[in-house]
Amino acid sequence: MTTPISVLVHTPMYSQVASALTYLSDEPLAPGTLVRVPLGQRELLGVVWDEVTESATPPRTAPFDPAKLRPIAEALQALPALSASWRALINFAANYYQRGAGEVALAALPPQLRDLSGLQLAKRLKKPAPPENTSLPKSLVTPDLIALTAEQARAINQFHAHPGPFLLFGATGSGKTEVYMRCTADTLAASPDAQALIMVPEINLTPQLEERFKAHFCPRYGDASVVSLHSGMTPAQRLKSWLAAHSGAARIVLGTRMAVFASLPHLKLIAVDEEHDPSYKSHEGARYSARDLAVYRGRLDGAKVLLGSATPSLESWHHSRAAAEGGRYLRLEMPSRVGVNAALPLVRRVDMNHQPKGCVISPPLLAAIAQRIAAGEQSMVFLNRRGYAPVLTCNDCDWKSTCPHCSAYRVFHKIDRTLRCHHCGFAEPVPRACPDCGNVDITGLGRGTERLEEQLTLLLTGITRSDGSAVRIARIDADTTRLKGALASQLAQVHAGDVDVLVGTQMIAKGHDFRRITLVAAINPDGALFSSDFRAPERLFGLLMQAAGRAGRDASNTSRSEMWVQTFHPTHPLFEALKRNDYPAFAQSQLVEREQAAMPPFSFQALVRAEARTQETAQAFLNLASQASVDLPDAAQLLPHITLYPAVPMSIQRVANVERAQMLIESASRTALQRFLSAWQATLQSQRARPECKGLLRWAVDVDPLLI
Ligand code: ADP
Ligand code: ZN
Ligand code: ZN
Repeated sequence: MTTPISVLVHTPMYSQVASALTYLSDEPLAPGTLVRVPLGQRELLGVVWDEVTESATPPRTAPFDPAKLRPIAEALQALPALSASWRALINFAANYYQRGAGEVALAALPPQLRDLSGLQLAKRLKKPAPPENTSLPKSLVTPDLIALTAEQARAINQFHAHPGPFLLFGATGSGKTEVYMRCTADTLAASPDAQALIMVPEINLTPQLEERFKAHFCPRYGDASVVSLHSGMTPAQRLKSWLAAHSGAARIVLGTRMAVFASLPHLKLIAVDEEHDPSYKSHEGARYSARDLAVYRGRLDGAKVLLGSATPSLESWHHSRAAAEGGRYLRLEMPSRVGVNAALPLVRRVDMNHQPKGCVISPPLLAAIAQRIAAGEQSMVFLNRRGYAPVLTCNDCDWKSTCPHCSAYRVFHKIDRTLRCHHCGFAEPVPRACPDCGNVDITGLGRGTERLEEQLTLLLTGITRSDGSAVRIARIDADTTRLKGALASQLAQVHAGDVDVLVGTQMIAKGHDFRRITLVAAINPDGALFSSDFRAPERLFGLLMQAAGRAGRDASNTSRSEMWVQTFHPTHPLFEALKRNDYPAFAQSQLVEREQAAMPPFSFQALVRAEARTQETAQAFLNLASQASVDLPDAAQLLPHITLYPAVPMSIQRVANVERAQMLIESASRTALQRFLSAWQATLQSQRARPECKGLLRWAVDVDPLLI
């Protein structure tokens, strides 16, 4: 007897084909069972699915003919089926972010699963885990020995007393990680198979966190109890971690955004550290927000959700307002840093209007850095631009180093004397003379971290360390950390005290627990104050607070740490709030502006981005789809709640010879927006066939976009 079963597969090449296909199986298979199925000439990994309700997919019209069904190739029954709540998470994410459930489900599984037969998989599952190296530094204080601060104790008590979700609003250095660890410890102790998922924004931050969690939990729960899950791992490591989580052997999973989809059958806690961080939002495939999905997943799994940040996203901040005002998250506050002398850094603004014209590092800042060097302390100087100069120009004819393939300048990298496009990667040696007029007088405009490092070296010549040796300057950015292991070794140098001044991009401003840095300086943060992106101030404030949080983390050091900001707008309210270390005031003023302008979180947005050979085509596609929305069956009910803006070029409108346009869609109601987008998918799809859209390459919907 054979049974027809529904199987989700990833069908990217015809993405609008339903991703649930029907196959025959000799035996009934539980939903969530992994199978291998034939599709055309290939054999694919699939997941047995419940009846699929995919709004992103037009209903299949072809009547289903049982005689034509093909049998599955194999059921991977060595693995327990994926749980109902995991499947519900996938269905939700696919619907909400307007993608196929098959695409989302298969992308959530470790890639190596696709290549293993049932037999290979069974072997993999039997193989005893190789003994892991758990020789951890003895110096690590296990958290049991740390007495909690009153603020930590209160936060943890509240965590136990309420269902959540929680927003842990804790200053940098207030001991949030300690709170995640205690909540995890309590959760694991309360039930014999409970699992916890701890998410961090950046792969770079996982080793530090992993070390702390392993030191605490491995002695109690075994070496295999803590695993990581992120895209920097080899396929084999990822599979191993995934299997450990899926089987329940791993009690704690530490990971980046992709980990939100990990199969965790006994999930009881999800912590999202630095919940405001933009890297929780995916920018390819399904544009999901791992933070938002974590909250949804918590509800599905009956797991408590703990979001943590010193500068929460305005969305989460708004959700954590008083319950009487409609708040849905409970706010837990930890305003103080751990330690007696652990005051937050003093914020000093340098008014660049009153500094020598064209100076990069103002004289007072330079003097302050020199003083820290003399005292044997470290400084961190950051600038959000890598390379030597953002553009090269001819002083005669005004030639500029435009990228031939993008609407952007190529950046001058002095180290290998190249002009490199940061958008398409196109690189060429720097010309000796102006390509247009032959003038040899070509110069770099502006500066990136490479030039800043060079200038600092120059400015600090003659200054020596307390032992008389020369000042050591190091730079950390995407260019210096291209090689595997480079970042880790550079960070180790900083931690070891081998560096006096650290120069870098925002890469160094986030999360790292530097112990000897006592001065942090933002060289030129003004750009974000006047950006057309309404989220730019929120990001800048978060970044500056984060950066400030890198200073003075060693409570035993008694000198007051400082955060320096060089700006032409010293009285700007953002810097005023920063000076007072007053995130709530900043958030409040931003929320008032957002409410007046009906912007998120007071409205809901989606963006459709289109790419085509010409800008005209990209825009035509979007505008035609917009006009055609009046023909939707329930247009009369939906459209009054929806604002469709005209298509516009994206801010970098051409990348690698592809023209890009976007269209914003807004609604005061999330439900209305969702219903509209689901209904509109077919309309978008059908525009492709129109002659005006010839040359359209691709398009994608981004729900709750972060960059507009
Ligand atoms: P956050 O994540 O809030 O920036 P961390 O959790 O990294 O802060 O804590 C900052 C530092 O304080 C860490 O070195 C941590 O080990 C230490 N710490 C945390 N809680 C305590 C405590 N109760 N007593 C002593 N030290 C603590
Ligand atoms: Zn020229
Ligand atoms: Zn380019």
